[in-house]
Amino acid sequence: MTQEYELISLIKKSNNIVYFGGAGTSTESNIPDFRSQDGLYSLKYKYPPETMLSRSFFDQHTEEFFGFYKDKVLYPDAKANKAHIALAELERMGKLKAIVTQNIDGLHQLAGSESVIELHGSVHKNYCIDCNAKYDLDYVIASEAIVPRCRECGGIVRPDVVLYEEGLDQLIMNAAKDAIEASDLLIVGGTSLVVYPAAGLIRYHKNNQIVLINKSETKYDNRAVLRFDEAIGELLDRVVCNI
Ligand code: ZN
Repeated sequence: MTQEYELISLIKKSNNIVYFGGAGTSTESNIPDFRSQDGLYSLKYKYPPETMLSRSFFDQHTEEFFGFYKDKVLYPDAKANKAHIALAELERMGKLKAIVTQNIDGLHQLAGSESVIELHGSVHKNYCIDCNAKYDLDYVIASEAIVPRCRECGGIVRPDVVLYEEGLDQLIMNAAKDAIEASDLLIVGGTSLVVYPAAGLIRYHKNNQIVLINKSETKYDNRAVLRFDEAIGELLDRVVCNI
């Protein structure tokens, strides 16, 4: 039996699948992982992405923060790829109960998924740091000034995403833990599982049915019942067609 056939059979038997995803889920939508540094960053920016996306940098260099954010983090024209679409289909079939994602691009919802737990927030949610008024992504993009300002009070409108040096929302963490704990099959895709809290969260899965889809090795490979190193979208698209 091929690995792919085994995955199909696992999914057929499961009724509480959780997908835990990282940046690799969105690479087929041409959103690069900003953590994977390429030469362009070092040519164009004085600081590494982790510095430019930190809370202290936001506070002290707000204009540079938004310059980098709009240039390298926002991909407003990105489309859902085969991975997002296949996962949304698994949810409609009643098999997948939650997606826990480290991504902030909102592409799972764009593909039609409803149960999405966004550990690091979303670029689609923005708020005024003074009066808490809420704004969508279009408002931030349409802002002529580099730093978007609140139309009510003039305060800075920041993305509701977790910056480096900031803590994760405890309610969202608990929802992720509960979903993973209840899962009968945990599919982990596009994350090397080194960034907090990924590695800690997957320990809550109790059923010993972990499937890993990642281009490179992870330190959890030995805990997985199946391990794939191909593109997530290509694989899930073929698999879901056979459920
Ligand atoms: Zn305001």
